[in-house]
Amino acid sequence: MLVVYDSRHRLHSDPRGRHPESPSRAVKVLESLTKSEFSNQLSFTGTRDPELDVLLLIHDAEYVEFIRRESSKGFHYLDPDTYVTEYTYTLSASYVTTTYYEALKSLEDREPVLIIPRPGGHHAGRSGRALGAPTLGFCVFNYAAIAAVAYLKRVKSVLIIDFDAHHGNGTQEIFWDDGRVVHVDIHQEGIYPGTGDVVDVGSGAGVGKMINIPLLAGAGDETYMWVLDEIVSRLVEVFKPDAVVVSAGFDAHVGDPLTSLAATKITYRSIGAYLGGLLERGSVGSVSTIVEGGYGDGLVAGLINYVGGLLTRCSHPDNVKAAPAGLSKRVREALKSRLSKYWGIEIKV
Ligand SMILES: [Zn+2]
Repeated sequence: MLVVYDSRHRLHSDPRGRHPESPSRAVKVLESLTKSEFSNQLSFTGTRDPELDVLLLIHDAEYVEFIRRESSKGFHYLDPDTYVTEYTYTLSASYVTTTYYEALKSLEDREPVLIIPRPGGHHAGRSGRALGAPTLGFCVFNYAAIAAVAYLKRVKSVLIIDFDAHHGNGTQEIFWDDGRVVHVDIHQEGIYPGTGDVVDVGSGAGVGKMINIPLLAGAGDETYMWVLDEIVSRLVEVFKPDAVVVSAGFDAHVGDPLTSLAATKITYRSIGAYLGGLLERGSVGSVSTIVEGGYGDGLVAGLINYVGGLLTRCSHPDNVKAAPAGLSKRVREALKSRLSKYWGIEIKV
């Protein structure tokens, strides 16, 4: 597996050291990968120079120019959550450009790719704040979206799985009415950015293809395993995506300081193993994983287990079970009706 990491990410930093999205996160992730039992299966690369044409595949020209201009002014906050430094534009744009080309290459090589970008990306919409979110949520450019767009240059259908604890509103906005992308977003209900209700299903060609799964605080492995078995794997059988993009935030891990979910390494290893199995069997041509959030010890614990699962490439059991208590009754019933209506998938609630 190719791992993309640019050590210049340290230049995107709040000098007061108060921001949870700090350089130490990516440093710890890299160290854990290089020391892991599967390090011999990893190769590492830096980033390419930014290409404006690539950025414009997912963001408006005015927004790209806004970020470039704000970044050139040096360190300051764009909104209460999101800062830039004089290096942020080049850094994030380099990651977007590299993600684009490595996703294309991954499709040819049939090898998964892991991107470790900073800052994160999934809250950044086409022109910045997305779906009415109050801020950019630490993000400036959207890496998951560019990976999906790269795939769509070569194939017809892409599945995006976003298991960051926060709703991937930027990604969802970009593909809202696209029709070629199914976006499954598993997040904690009621926290930032306040989007991603179960009744939000996309529009136009995208109707039914935005699948939001808001979880109650405290939801853990039992709930994630149910979502994987009863929704994701059955959806894959019907939709038959050519490639998969994963927005892999690890802030749903129990103990994360920003959220109240309770996933453990079991969840992350299972998701990784499921996706590795799809790749192994040739069910999908490529899996690109973008690291998003994760602000406690769960970042490294979750990531190592996810990557370990992906490289182990197990098959996944198939058995229909009733929805667990990590989903509210309203969400369970809404999911049941929508999955039946748009996909012919009958779930037990
Ligand atoms: Zn998050």
